[in-house]
Amino acid sequence: MKMSKMFVQTMREFPSDAEVVSHKMLVRAGYLKKLTSGVYNYLPLMWRVLKKVENIIREEMDRAGAQELLMPFVQPKELWEESGRWNAYGGELMRLKDRHGREMCLGPTHEEIITAIARDILKSYKQLPVNLYQIQSKFRDERRPRFGLLRGREFIMKDAYSFSTSQEELEKEYKNMWEAYTRIFKRCGLETKAVQSDSGAIGGSVSHEFMVITDTDAGENDVFYCDCGYATNSNHAVSKLPEAKIEGDWSEAKIVDTPNTKSIEELCDFLNIPPTLIVKTLVYIVDKKPVLALIRGDKPVEETKLMNAVGGLDIRIATEGEIDEMMAVNGFDSERGFIGPKGLKEYNGYPITVVADETVKDLKNFVIGVNKKDVHGVGYNWGTDVDLPQIVTDIRLAQAGELCPECGKPLKVTRGIEVGNIFQLGTKYSKPMNAVYLDQNGKTQPYIMGCYGIGVSRTAAAAVEAHHDEFGIKWPLAIAPYHAVVIPVSTKDELQMKVAEDIYKTLLKHGVEVVLDDRDERAGVKFKDADLIGFPYRITVGKGIADGLVEFKARNEEQSINIKPEDAAEIIVTAVNEIK
Ligand code: ATP
Ligand code: MG
Repeated sequence: MKMSKMFVQTMREFPSDAEVVSHKMLVRAGYLKKLTSGVYNYLPLMWRVLKKVENIIREEMDRAGAQELLMPFVQPKELWEESGRWNAYGGELMRLKDRHGREMCLGPTHEEIITAIARDILKSYKQLPVNLYQIQSKFRDERRPRFGLLRGREFIMKDAYSFSTSQEELEKEYKNMWEAYTRIFKRCGLETKAVQSDSGAIGGSVSHEFMVITDTDAGENDVFYCDCGYATNSNHAVSKLPEAKIEGDWSEAKIVDTPNTKSIEELCDFLNIPPTLIVKTLVYIVDKKPVLALIRGDKPVEETKLMNAVGGLDIRIATEGEIDEMMAVNGFDSERGFIGPKGLKEYNGYPITVVADETVKDLKNFVIGVNKKDVHGVGYNWGTDVDLPQIVTDIRLAQAGELCPECGKPLKVTRGIEVGNIFQLGTKYSKPMNAVYLDQNGKTQPYIMGCYGIGVSRTAAAAVEAHHDEFGIKWPLAIAPYHAVVIPVSTKDELQMKVAEDIYKTLLKHGVEVVLDDRDERAGVKFKDADLIGFPYRITVGKGIADGLVEFKARNEEQSINIKPEDAAEIIVTAVNEIK
């Protein structure tokens, strides 16, 4: 490809609406163009990268014995009603109607469709196990599309679904996919950590996420890990707490004035106690229903855990207005900071569910809100002064400094980008959708399913997060849009042009994807663009050619070297052959 003909326009500045490196660089280097919120045009450079990621995935999925198909992007409501997800899936599901008024949705994932295919075709145990996958654009009306390709509304995903006859067979396939994923991300030049996770809206029990570890804002997930091998997502992390004071010094339960103590900190200062003596009450709305979360004053709530504890799909903290109303409906006049579970019965037509974190159950003589402004109950105990809720479970967000549940050493925390995940679904879809086969005894059995996703476009963006410097992208060779660029310093110099063209042709002949920067531009401009676009190798033909030498530079190395053109070409050809 000649640079003068290449459909690419680099920009001088980073786009103003981009927050993370991959978004900034992909737009500035001419890979991406936004169409509307969370929806991007993949320009030719980007498309080359995406196709490479796809091909690596394809090769490894095929190698692992999975078979590729392609399902429609538009899906009918009826199948989603069979699985029960038409109502359960929240605002992310983009619903629409056709001209006959029939309801449809844009595919955010394909469990329903694949299960419907399977039940028509996989009728006997002899046909199982099977693993089917596709690579396709998905649409999710994300609440907060952001970070460019990392969290788009339209994005490319590889989704695979396995059908087995037993849990053991499923576990074997799960391991098979785990290994395929490890190879895929490694070939894409990414180091990943597999962490235990919550299964969320997809459901099932065992699941793992593959995280690219990054200490930047782009990592939306907290990853907790320990040298002993324990590694988990924040919504699944458990930890042991270090020793703390959990018994107050009051000799009896009473209500005391605590003016203007809306925050835990203010309350601690006023009463001169540590936060570990306070039962904090937070008000949430889960799928429209009111939920109170009780947790020790020094600990935050993990919202996914809380949502799962009450079996919901959507969770948010209640607004001030909602809290006011809840107080009024239950005969109180209170506000955030002074709320407690006692006497709160209903809201919005639903009974109020109270969930206590495990951290509160052992507290004695503690402090708690009593739904009256500027006072708190102190010296309270469960049973005598206030009831311990029926649901006591782990709803706590683990924090750095807490201890590994397996070996007791301090847990480490870092941030990660989830590039893929694997789930053991079991019969979550096959049972409600009546997707069954005949077993060896002629009895019908639901398939034991697994599903396995990879964010293709997110993986490409994660590679930029992991590999860049202040000047631009440093693509891993296997997913770079081109392997190399050849830059004649002066296009007017006949010898330089001739040598550059010869190298270009030699590289092409050996299967190297190479760009000849034949533009009549200053060398500095060409170098800048080369660094920004991120070609893994650069050969510069300048004055040194009088001595038979060119300048060779690898993008991920500081120094360039002066070598013979044929030697430079050979290094590149060898490297490219290694990734094939
Ligand atoms: P997340 O927690 O990041 O929203 P998810 O759990 O919703 O991800 P899945 O439904 O399992 O993800 O989708 C499989 C893969 O698709 C994810 O591992 C991720 O790499 C990718 N993915 C999910 N949502 C998006 C998105 N909005 N933009 C880009 N990639 C995405
Ligand atoms: Mg999601």
